[in-house]
Amino acid sequence: MTTRVWNYLPEYEKEKADILDAVEKVFGSGQLVLGESVKGFEAEFAAYHGAGYCTSVDNGTNALKLALEALGIGPGDEVITVSNTAAPTVLAITSTGAVPVFVDVREADFLIDTALVEAAITPRTKALLPVHLYGQSVDMAPLKAIAAKHGLKILEDCAQAHGARHHGELVGTMGDAAAFSFYPTKVLGAYGDGGAVVTSDEAIDLSMRQLRYYGMDKVYYVVRTPGHNSRLDEVQAEILRRKLGRLDEYVAGRNAVARRYEEKLGDLTGPGALRLPATNEGNTHSYYVYVVRHPERDRIIEALKTYDISLNISYPWPCHTMSGFAYLGYGKGALPVTEKLAGEIFSLPMYPSLDEAEQDRVINALREVLTVL
Ligand SMILES: *Cc1c(COP(=O)(O)O)cnc(C)c1O
Repeated sequence: MTTRVWNYLPEYEKEKADILDAVEKVFGSGQLVLGESVKGFEAEFAAYHGAGYCTSVDNGTNALKLALEALGIGPGDEVITVSNTAAPTVLAITSTGAVPVFVDVREADFLIDTALVEAAITPRTKALLPVHLYGQSVDMAPLKAIAAKHGLKILEDCAQAHGARHHGELVGTMGDAAAFSFYPTKVLGAYGDGGAVVTSDEAIDLSMRQLRYYGMDKVYYVVRTPGHNSRLDEVQAEILRRKLGRLDEYVAGRNAVARRYEEKLGDLTGPGALRLPATNEGNTHSYYVYVVRHPERDRIIEALKTYDISLNISYPWPCHTMSGFAYLGYGKGALPVTEKLAGEIFSLPMYPSLDEAEQDRVINALREVLTVL
């Protein structure tokens, strides 16, 4: 079988009885939408974060979009974020009518360069949207200081960083609100789509509950527009409840895979060689993906195909260079570090149930390919 960066089947084999029990519980419960499993998951996900509130939604993109709306962001407002992210971060902003404003990232950790943020602020700026990319927290202290000084909201994009920590604090607890995705590949993944917004602000949570439920505050009565139908499915909620109890194990498992890459590939590093990802001081990485760098990235990926290894690039095109975002007016050269990284990065297989033999097969193939490059 082809080796890929992600595969849920080994996990399903291990957890099958629990997952199928979750499905059966919901089907037999008599309530298929916004029932006990959604309520239970929301309470447990909020408690995991030590946060007051959690509203679950249908996916991570809508978690970001509805959270922006709940924060009062709309047409004409500017939201500062990065181009070096999954496109849904940016689509969530544009779908509210707001304008994404991109700042470049740091070469060392792929994360927002907090030193560039203040220069991007205009009178229209309403929020900062840091992305804890690949599973590592952004430096929050400088962002919080800037937000306080300029009266901006902070929405954390935690879609890749469930269970990651920053100086001991969980990501998702450091801004006004935080959006999560439970897309199957994520660190906490459902067996389908899912998302959630965590906050400690009751008013934001109340808005979230109305926004995901047609803009209604009671059945059939709309109190605000736009209203959406953006509910988390009851089956996915019950599966996520089961898996939430194992989230810390998943993060530990991903860290074990990362340590093995470091042990077995660490000697190849240096200028012009393979560069492994760095974890900043004070951070606990959750390794949503394990992203390495090499100037000959495309040749490496091509060569690995002959070993039946198919790797991913997260992400090959920075958002500001995509034709769909051309109207934002950035173009090539606008964000040099982001653009340079996009040409060199690729992801090695990463998931907690990746077995050592399969990981070694990738490591050995990669070592062979690098010697003949
Ligand atoms: C996955 C992801 C999203 C979108 O989540 P979906 O559940 O796929 O809609 C948003 N932001 C980032 C950084 C992501 O990785």
